[in-house]
Amino acid sequence: DVKRQKIANLLTQMRLSSATARKIQDIFRSEMNKGIHLQPSSLQMENTYIPELPDGTEEGLFLALDLGGTNFRVLLLELVNGVVVREDVKKYHIDAHLRTDSGIPLFEYLAECVSNFVISEGLQDVELPLGFTFSFPMIQHSLEIGILVTWTKSFNCPDVVNKDAVQLLKDALARRGDTRVKVVAVLNDTTGTLIQGATQDRHTAIGLILGTGSNACYLERADKVEHWEPERHGEREVIIDIEWGAFGDNGVLDFIKTEFDLENDANSLMVNSFTFEKYISGKYLGEIVRIILVRLMKDGLLFTRQTSESLLIPGSFITDYVSLIEQDTVDGCWLHTKEVLAKFHIVPDEEDIKIVQYVCEVASNRAALLVSICLATLLDHMEREEVTIAVDGSLYKHHPRLESWMNKYISLLTPARKFKLIHAQDGSGKGAAIVAAIALRIK
Ligand code: ADP
Repeated sequence: DVKRQKIANLLTQMRLSSATARKIQDIFRSEMNKGIHLQPSSLQMENTYIPELPDGTEEGLFLALDLGGTNFRVLLLELVNGVVVREDVKKYHIDAHLRTDSGIPLFEYLAECVSNFVISEGLQDVELPLGFTFSFPMIQHSLEIGILVTWTKSFNCPDVVNKDAVQLLKDALARRGDTRVKVVAVLNDTTGTLIQGATQDRHTAIGLILGTGSNACYLERADKVEHWEPERHGEREVIIDIEWGAFGDNGVLDFIKTEFDLENDANSLMVNSFTFEKYISGKYLGEIVRIILVRLMKDGLLFTRQTSESLLIPGSFITDYVSLIEQDTVDGCWLHTKEVLAKFHIVPDEEDIKIVQYVCEVASNRAALLVSICLATLLDHMEREEVTIAVDGSLYKHHPRLESWMNKYISLLTPARKFKLIHAQDGSGKGAAIVAAIALRIK
């Protein structure tokens, strides 16, 4: 009927044809090559200076500091034969003013949490190597130097930009007189995920985050990498952090931008940046769905018997709701969909439910396809026999359809490549300890 046709027409912009998918693949490949050859590109392709994966010999007690995820955490991990056998974790709250004022009090607070944690573990007299998971874009000059490029998420301490986060932490620890904690490596959650995945599956060579944000990293041949600052020590491989959240920030991906994406961008904290992340990650997927639903509502195509004020509020439709509604589509029922809409004081009819489920499917499916396009391109670039992709993040964990779509699309886009998706739990904690152990080994 006419209404259905109108909705389908409006949503065609969200559908990517196979020709468009190929075009995105070409652009992603070209941006990766430019990035790795230090030419202007929206992909940073940063050298992490992690030159090898765990080999099963990692042993000892390690601290990990995890900043940039949902929680700030300090962890103590004991490794035996490369496996975490003991893990003590403490979560700390970071006040809003610490996240947005000067960097000095922020890093003093981080150091204070580390010291208190070490004392609570009774380890204040033991020398402890620390791996610092700092999940923000960095320029790395070595495994233990990470210059902050820009804050993201809920952090914005202006005077830390262009400074070395590791040095700030070391200085804060030194001011406390804490000399037994040794910061030996800095990494982000994505590299931590690859490293943690490698302890679960020896073919792991890609790390992927689908959580609040999105990013990926992979194992590259060292001779292909131009950005090497410290002297090389015969490294054969190195982990490259793609920083793909920013893919398209230079405009190369604008042809897929829909009117809904433009509005999503306009409502976001940092307009015109993190273009790719805004199509796919947990922070934005629900918002895209909300924007489409509001448009359909305003056009008189949805919820015609009522209007919802709360649905008009940006950010009100969280990505958790998308997962719930997609679960209904999988189960062929309406239960969660009705519950979610009730939160917006909407009592839907049968047609409303089908439309809402359809919108969630279209937005989720596009996210899965975009991630798969980049992963397929990466697999072709890596030319390995077999690659396991280690994934972490709540969006991937909880969305009921992403994994199966990704398996399908990657296979379609690069049929000859053997790959596997695995879930690597807590790379930003466990991975940090293992990277610290690797750092000590290669010193
Ligand atoms: P991080 O902030 O370190 O990425 P997570 O991986 O836990 O931490 O991701 C949290 C994000 O995942 C939330 O901001 C939200 O966008 C998304 N999320 C949480 N729960 C769900 C869910 N059930 N379905 C889909 N996305 C979810």
